[in-house]
This record gives sequence, structure tokens and C-alpha cells, in this order.
Amino acid sequence: MGNEGYATGCSHCGGQDFAVRVRIGQTAEVGHIGLSYKDGLLLVGTEPLRVDVCTACGTIRRLYVENVDHRWVTR
Ligand SMILES: [Zn+2]
Repeated sequence: MGNEGYATGCSHCGGQDFAVRVRIGQTAEVGHIGLSYKDGLLLVGTEPLRVDVCTACGTIRRLYVENVDHRWVTR
């Protein structure tokens, strides 16, 4: 599993231009969609999801969070 495919651009249209670190929003400004993690004893935070999207056809190349240093809530 290398990075060649990743570097060659969009898997759909072959485009090279991507908008990176785009945040996934919601219509009603109620916060953001993300992954939950424990912050302290009871507090739960949300790490926002980011996407890299092809600016030509809109294909999502990558879906990820930026900060992985969390204690993720898995249940
Ligand atoms: Zn594309």
C-alpha cells in the first residue's frame, strides 16, 4: 500500500486540484459533525471531520480528522 495512487489526483476525473481541509458543516449552524472523544473525566469533545475534495468534480479524496491525539469514544 503506497502513496502513488494518492498523489496522482482524483480517482474519478484525474484532476489535480483539491480543496483541502474542508470542514463538514451542517445547514443549521448547530456545530459540526465529527468524532467524539473524552476530554477529562466526563467532558466529551468533538474532533471535526475534514475532507479533501476535487474542485473539478466534487469527489471526496480523503476523509479524516486532523488531531488524532484523543481518547476516542467508541461506544
Ligand atoms: Zn475529480
